[in-house]
Amino acid sequence: MSHVIVIGCGVVGAAIAFELSLLPRLQVTAIDRQHPGQNATSAALGVLMGAISKKVKGRAWQLRQQSMQRYETLIPELEALTQTKIPYNRQGILKLCLGDEKMSKWEELAQLRESQGLPLTILNPFQVRSQYPQLGNIDTLIGAVYSPSDRQVHPVSLTQALVGAAQRHEVKFHFDVTVEGFKTVAGENSTKSVTVVRTNRGDLTADWVVVAAGLGSTPLTAELQKPVSVTPVLGQALQLHLSHPLGNPDWQPVITGDDVHIVPCKDFGSMGSMDYWVGATVEFPTGKSAIVPDETRLNDVLQRAIAFCPDLAQATVVRKWSGLRPRPDEQSAPVLGPLPGYNNVLLATGHYRNGVLLAPATAIAIRDAIVEKISGN
Ligand SMILES: Cc1cc2nc3c(=O)[nH]c(=O)nc-3n(C[C@H](O)[C@H](O)[C@H](O)COP(=O)(O)OP(=O)(O)OC[C@H]3O[C@@H](n4cnc5c(N)ncnc54)[C@H](O)[C@@H]3O)c2cc1C
Repeated sequence: MSHVIVIGCGVVGAAIAFELSLLPRLQVTAIDRQHPGQNATSAALGVLMGAISKKVKGRAWQLRQQSMQRYETLIPELEALTQTKIPYNRQGILKLCLGDEKMSKWEELAQLRESQGLPLTILNPFQVRSQYPQLGNIDTLIGAVYSPSDRQVHPVSLTQALVGAAQRHEVKFHFDVTVEGFKTVAGENSTKSVTVVRTNRGDLTADWVVVAAGLGSTPLTAELQKPVSVTPVLGQALQLHLSHPLGNPDWQPVITGDDVHIVPCKDFGSMGSMDYWVGATVEFPTGKSAIVPDETRLNDVLQRAIAFCPDLAQATVVRKWSGLRPRPDEQSAPVLGPLPGYNNVLLATGHYRNGVLLAPATAIAIRDAIVEKISGN
């Protein structure tokens, strides 16, 4: 029995814990200094832009494609195991094309996606307005792309369901426990191995360590003398309440454009009302001081959403929030694979703007890396 310790229980660590729980002969322990689904995960909008993303090849596309496929089986699996409903919008994503965007590029992408079994529908401005009456008169609108296979999921409900399902598969969770350091020994081929994970509540022996600690990954890898730099990029969003749904109540895809998402939240509405999440800002740190949410930027996002859907001007703001996205420095997101110099430490961090989208594929990559090593030994 190999013992895997997963550090971090945001959406990424929880997805890894669950995927590993499906393997025989592994004992899995997940540790978080808070409760599951806090930090970046609690701020996310859960928009899963796969087919409609412009990524077409290499790792970036493979991870998206694999996540989209896994989501379709994962959600029903988790719902059955936990007997809970996970808000999962299967009505697709409508991407508005504005200004000097080239529709020809979208047509090329649509052809490629068709061959991949992920059709996209290209709409002209007239079709957009007639099919989506909630949209106002957008001067710069040149068309839209509708992707029926893309999704949106409630990130915290998903994370809690992953934890609940993993618990049913004997994964042990330690919350309110902070990992503070490691004990290492020399391993094979001049690498090192972590043998013990040190926490503020005692030591745990480990055969494998998975660092899925988001922004906490930098100090943890620094403890191992191999710092992986992940820096915060702040995002703000808000929840709006409307007395009526935008457009057709039975047809509520996510609407996105100009880097603003309008996300229907059916589960919050009652008696014909409807809530929407709107976001998100992208605010980079300046210097070494902590990033402070800039109210004017959030207001700018709201005004852009109102420019798309004028009825949002009548909405009540129910909640505003912000979170810090873990963005890797000097390498592309996410950071996924072995920690250099160690033979039993895997990194699953730095997912930046797509951690919810990429969590299932990340979990599969970690599972495969462990299985390959175990079966090779
Ligand atoms: C406003 C906003 C909107 C977003 N919208 C989307 C979206 O629509 N779609 C999408 O895919 N992504 C979105 N994202 C990005 C997404 O939120 C992140 O990529 C994702 O949540 C990263 O998950 P994670 O599990 O790696 O990190 P986190 O959720 O930050 O979890 C890391 C965990 O590690 C724990 N930890 C850290 N250090 C230690 C330690 N030493 N000991 C124990 N525990 C530790 C922390 O307590 C935390 O719980 C958005 C982000 C923001 C801020």
